[in-house]
Amino acid sequence: MSRRPQARIDLAALLHNLQQLRAAAPNSKVLAVLKANAYGHGLLNVAEQLKDASAFGVARIDEALMLRAGGIVKPIVLLEGFFHADELPQVVASNLQVVVHHPSQVEALVAAELDSPVHVWLKMDSGMHRLGLLPEQFLQAYQQLCQSPNVIQPMRLMTHFASADELAVDSTQQQIDLFMNTVAGLAGELCLANSAGTLAWPQSHGHWIRPGLALYGVSPMEQGRAEHHQLKAVMSFSSSVIAVREVKKGDKVGYGGTWTAPADTRLAVVAVGYGDGYPRAASNGCPVLIKGERYPIVGRVSMDMTSVDIGKADVQIGDEVLLWGADLPVEEIAEHVQTIPYELLCNITSRVEFRYINAEQQKAD
Ligand SMILES: *Cc1c(COP(=O)(O)O)cnc(C)c1O
Repeated sequence: MSRRPQARIDLAALLHNLQQLRAAAPNSKVLAVLKANAYGHGLLNVAEQLKDASAFGVARIDEALMLRAGGIVKPIVLLEGFFHADELPQVVASNLQVVVHHPSQVEALVAAELDSPVHVWLKMDSGMHRLGLLPEQFLQAYQQLCQSPNVIQPMRLMTHFASADELAVDSTQQQIDLFMNTVAGLAGELCLANSAGTLAWPQSHGHWIRPGLALYGVSPMEQGRAEHHQLKAVMSFSSSVIAVREVKKGDKVGYGGTWTAPADTRLAVVAVGYGDGYPRAASNGCPVLIKGERYPIVGRVSMDMTSVDIGKADVQIGDEVLLWGADLPVEEIAEHVQTIPYELLCNITSRVEFRYINAEQQKAD
């Protein structure tokens, strides 16, 4: 039996989450965000399962080209657009859609000689101050692109939230108001909401929602949990016990000897480490689940192995150890190691074996 860490990807849970997001925003089309290898879940496998999404969003052109090479024909939006005019022929040839967020992109697009026009998602900076045209630049860019034969009309109009995961701050409503006021009267479908906007800010739904994290069954909200939104964790990250051993009171465990056994006890050594993407910050205290019971990590997480204190429990070599998944939410692990679930999911390395389960059956005709 393989003792490699494994990421089990439940494709039925992915479809369930898509349905939940649709139910939350019943009048909106879904632009499913698949950047960063579908948040670590596997770009093509996820894309093939999300037949019901209206479009896919990726960050970079190479991600879009991987989808096209894998036979995906759905609309694909480059969420950061193109970086240089010399990418435009590839954009056209691969039938990609571009976000336009900067005056230099407007100029390049208007000046280009293209074989056919492209779909543009014109992006406004309504307060995040990362990408986007300022409200005072927006109308001019809109008009320039309206007149360009390189642009399919009408464009889509979009913005992105900085703090939609925080219910207690006003900035999201301010972003919504600024965006809505600026685009009032302009032709084009609107797209504002990421996962948190979709779940918590119904006034932001517009014609399109743009969820990433929630599709993968993870709560985007501060201190949130998937179950609060009836989402199901798609990834189960697990490995197995490769040794069980006894330590005496006073023994120091692992690199640096950062944990000292307070009493005689037993440790299970698990085949997982930061070389697999399990966070080193989980050292000393982060829980794992073995046969439904939680046990704490003791000592430092090393590259390939991690020790847990199992006390007197009946744990055997070969037993499965859940690192995160439905019964041990990745949201909780992220809080424990002071990061966000996004980072944990994206950090899984290629050393981990991926298994896809519950794929939608091909309908027999
Ligand atoms: C990543 C991203 C999203 C998805 O955000 P989630 O919080 O994962 O739902 C949406 N829009 C843009 C522009 C993004 O970069």
